[in-house]
Amino acid sequence: MTRGISASIEGLVPDPGKSLPCPTCGQALQEQDDWVACGNDQCSMWGMSLSVWSVHRRLVAAGRDAPAPGAGWPRPLYDGLPHTYLTPVAAGRAWWRHVDALRLEQCQTQWLCQVCGLRLEHQAWLLVDAGGLVLMSSALHRRCVDLSMARCPALSIEQPTERQVVREQILVNGRPWPLVYATNRPEGILPALWTLATPIA
Ligand SMILES: [Zn+2]
Ligand SMILES: [Zn+2]
Repeated sequence: MTRGISASIEGLVPDPGKSLPCPTCGQALQEQDDWVACGNDQCSMWGMSLSVWSVHRRLVAAGRDAPAPGAGWPRPLYDGLPHTYLTPVAAGRAWWRHVDALRLEQCQTQWLCQVCGLRLEHQAWLLVDAGGLVLMSSALHRRCVDLSMARCPALSIEQPTERQVVREQILVNGRPWPLVYATNRPEGILPALWTLATPIA
């Protein structure tokens, strides 16, 4: 998965007993880095790299799993850590290294917070890495920055720069935010990579 979007939370080992069933054949899916795959060679999904969020959406639609926690504050806890709006919760566990691409698109296009999923103010915050990439390519509330910096194991290693911004300062795949998201549903731009229009001084 593209850097700046992958959660890449190392060291968190969720309960391996809680595996995700294949939506087609029901066999437990195998986990491979950012993907899951069905190992049943009799299954029509055999060998395909599947995203956790898309498998989970199908299971929810079929009434076989519950939706992930919605937007709101405070965040529910999984493995003792606050759930972020972008983290899939499937088969009863948080999939920390995975990102719900539909929710990410929602946050990017509707100016929602990546942690709580609620609407952002005119000014919001970005966490930016040393290379100028916006972590998770979406923005946060001030209190959600504080929560993330205090509780997220990956951020305590990465130590990103906190930047207060308005949308006009953000580049989406190299183009200004207002231009890219002016249309209601910009097709074919995900996963969009956010950078800052002005470099960090
Ligand atoms: Zn299958
Ligand atoms: Zn928030």
